[in-house]
Amino acid sequence: MDIDDTPVLDNHLHLDPVNGRNVAAAEEFASQGGTHLLVLNKPSWHLVEKGTDEAIFREVFDLTVEAAAAASEVLDGRAWPVLGVHPALISKLVDGGYTPPEARDIMQAGLDVAAEYVDNSDALAMKSGRPHYDVDDVVWEASNEVMCHGFERAADVGCAIQLHTEGGEDFEAVAGWAEDRGLDRTQVVKHYSGGQLRGPVKSVLADKDELEIAVETDEPFLMETDYIDDPDRPGAVLGPKTVPRRVRWLLENGHEDAVRTAHVETPKAVYGIDTEATLER
Ligand SMILES: [Zn+2]
Repeated sequence: MDIDDTPVLDNHLHLDPVNGRNVAAAEEFASQGGTHLLVLNKPSWHLVEKGTDEAIFREVFDLTVEAAAAASEVLDGRAWPVLGVHPALISKLVDGGYTPPEARDIMQAGLDVAAEYVDNSDALAMKSGRPHYDVDDVVWEASNEVMCHGFERAADVGCAIQLHTEGGEDFEAVAGWAEDRGLDRTQVVKHYSGGQLRGPVKSVLADKDELEIAVETDEPFLMETDYIDDPDRPGAVLGPKTVPRRVRWLLENGHEDAVRTAHVETPKAVYGIDTEATLER
């Protein structure tokens, strides 16, 4: 099997139509055999400067919806937007003078807007999580409340949710919180995961060592770069060519089944998307 015989999905990448390379990054992905993208909105840090009206979330989400549509034009498959609130926003808000409960309410309102976009079929899935760095107990508690609100809203509108969290392999408790709110753990995706994970579905950073672990573990998984499309930080993350390159490497090493798992079966199971039916070469 050759890379041209399979869909190739990057499960988590950012495109920035304002300051970044945007469509050019999607073209670079496509040039290496990439076919499908999940495009995440960039963090809405300017919320702190411009006020906390939910209109700011809409502004950020609309940019991502447009970026995904533009990326779809250059892909043999297509791109879908995934919208939500970056968990580190809580620290920006608290540093800007909001109390943790106020910050929580603002972020939950942002998730409500994201759920509305999914409900209107303008986005595929949601994104939430909790800080990946140490925070005060009150901020941690508020963050968990934000994440659980995300689970509730994803369950309401029937979509999957990607999580940005601290590192680690045991997220069994988090998966349980989702299930307590009516969201199956198979709809919860830990972004930036290593090859081994308990609880949610893992979206494995396209690193060879972690991918080897994921292949050996033989569980559902996705692949991602977390490309940030930030001209000020070139090389800060994996580039848009990385997932297709790793797919080629997996195929060369005889891992056809793992490629099918990450690019056809898991996307279908988690998001309900058909990467084969939406592919026209
Ligand atoms: Zn990201």
